[in-house]
Amino acid sequence: MGLTDFLNPVKGFGVSFHQMFMKSETVQYPEVKKPTAPRFHGRHQLNRWPDGLEKCIGCELCAWACPADAIFVEGADNDPDERYSPGERYGRTYQINYLRCILCGLCIEACPTRALTMTNEYELADDSRESLIYTKEMLLAPLREGMEAPPHEMRLGDTEEDYYRLGLQPSDDAPTVPSEGGGRASADQAAKAAKRGRSRKGGEGK
Ligand code: SF4
Ligand code: SF4
Repeated sequence: MGLTDFLNPVKGFGVSFHQMFMKSETVQYPEVKKPTAPRFHGRHQLNRWPDGLEKCIGCELCAWACPADAIFVEGADNDPDERYSPGERYGRTYQINYLRCILCGLCIEACPTRALTMTNEYELADDSRESLIYTKEMLLAPLREGMEAPPHEMRLGDTEEDYYRLGLQPSDDAPTVPSEGGGRASADQAAKAAKRGRSRKGGEGK
């Protein structure tokens, strides 16, 4: 055994000794919660258009993309008298099984309407299997100012083209697609359009 081999255990203790004087990284969770990275993959959310209609069109692409078979979607046709999304179809049943989900994000990449995104919420533990199957009602984004709970008519603009153009806004849950003239439809424009739509329809459906 050479001299360097003899010193190896001493070097090992040196690492432990060095660590004793380093600043502790312990976080007193759950009393203290460290913010996650902005793009952390947490609980999913089903987003809405600025008038409150659902973005999900029940296409099932998210379910097909999921490697863990954690998503169940059942689409249905929109009835003009009972509309849940601006298109022909909407997601009648939507479930995510968090016992299976590995929070990989493939489902949100597959979604063609940005209906499905992921929040930073990571506190998903529970003590019953049933409560870890999240339903559509649990996943839907809350109604923000200017939104109205579906079913109701399309309230943004006079035509479908207006609807989709004014519905786009530069936020986390909506794609930022340039509008006509090179600018972007702002949240303000969308809110104004929603207001116009409501007044045109005599404030019905609240
Ligand atoms: S995050 Fe991954 S595992 Fe979870 S539902 Fe989406 S595709 Fe499936
Ligand atoms: S969340 Fe997106 S991909 Fe999944 S069914 Fe709805 S529209 Fe389709």
